[in-house]
Amino acid sequence: MTDLFETPTWMLLAPLILLLFVWLIRAKRSSNTKKNRRLPPEYFTGLNYLLNDEHGKALDIFVKLVESDWEIVDTHFALAKIFRKNGEIDKAIKIHQGLIARPSLPEKYRGKVLLELGYDYLAAGWLDRAEGLFKEVLINDRKSEKAKRNLILIYQQEKDWHKAIDVGADLFSEGKSGVGAMVSQYYCELADIAKSKGDITLAAQNSRQALHYDRGSIRALILLADHEMNNGRYAQALRHLEQVEKRDIAFFPVILDKLIECYRRTAGSEKLLSYLTEIELQHPLLAINEKHAMVIERYQGRDAAVEYLTARIRDYPDARSMLSLVNYKTSQDKVGERALFLDLKSALIKMQQDATDYQCHHCGFQANTLYWLCPSCQSWATVKPTMIETTRK
Ligand SMILES: [Zn+2]
Repeated sequence: MTDLFETPTWMLLAPLILLLFVWLIRAKRSSNTKKNRRLPPEYFTGLNYLLNDEHGKALDIFVKLVESDWEIVDTHFALAKIFRKNGEIDKAIKIHQGLIARPSLPEKYRGKVLLELGYDYLAAGWLDRAEGLFKEVLINDRKSEKAKRNLILIYQQEKDWHKAIDVGADLFSEGKSGVGAMVSQYYCELADIAKSKGDITLAAQNSRQALHYDRGSIRALILLADHEMNNGRYAQALRHLEQVEKRDIAFFPVILDKLIECYRRTAGSEKLLSYLTEIELQHPLLAINEKHAMVIERYQGRDAAVEYLTARIRDYPDARSMLSLVNYKTSQDKVGERALFLDLKSALIKMQQDATDYQCHHCGFQANTLYWLCPSCQSWATVKPTMIETTRK
């Protein structure tokens, strides 16, 4: 946090003038219906302290002023919010702690002050204190959605998935929007933990719970497909994987290896080849050329794979496909031809290393690992495989 006495005066002056302006308008409106109200002289004393960079004294005055007129408490909330947004969290905390310490604080404002102080603690990274305040809000207002959503954020940061599920399920039962997808992700986290410990039964239970809270959860469908494949039930696994394809085609490259294995074990090579061709026709920018070529090579031979890649690169050129084609060429026995492709191969390897496999559709974060929770913007399921970049239309 910044030091209370280090903030330049100009940073505080503009928002405070705005606040005083708002207060004057409210006082003017009020004078038409009630008594004539004027700004208390202490407000100008506080302003002077601010101008002289004596912020501690200024805040003391503003906090005490509210006691004579709680109707102006909104200006304190606004001032504190400006401090918090500027990173001056200690000043915001001082305002809110000053308000909560006032014996005359009307009950109707108590929950709001606790919430705001909770936001200050969250911004300062004091999760335990923030959790305590949000729980206190819930004692008086059991349905406070803001308190519950902030508790969920805290438990998510602490990776306490059970607590996050408890609060999330509560909001879900009240029909709040967007909560089901979050709770679903928490169950997926529990499923991954159970899997890492070898408890596949618990992993499957959590995956089903995840699907219960979000019928379209890509992550839960993939987890369940893995579970079915591990138990040799490839037809059931295939149903989950085809659901992924229908729900969000962007994730097709993620499930492609599993799909190939399931088709190989059930429907057979011809259906797999026609399925991949159909998918590629419908979604030509999916980055699946390399694996599609491998399937063609397996069932129709190397020449067919080379022919496929050559045609694809003509229409949708990308480094990975070109490298795949060059690998086919350099693995041939013709020494002369192999030498021709070596320089090209090293250039393509460099291009491929520079490319990213995944990108967040919310904030643009790029990675070579699939994150279910974007490390940058903290959004769930927004990181997806990148498409083939091409200048052709
Ligand atoms: Zn993001």
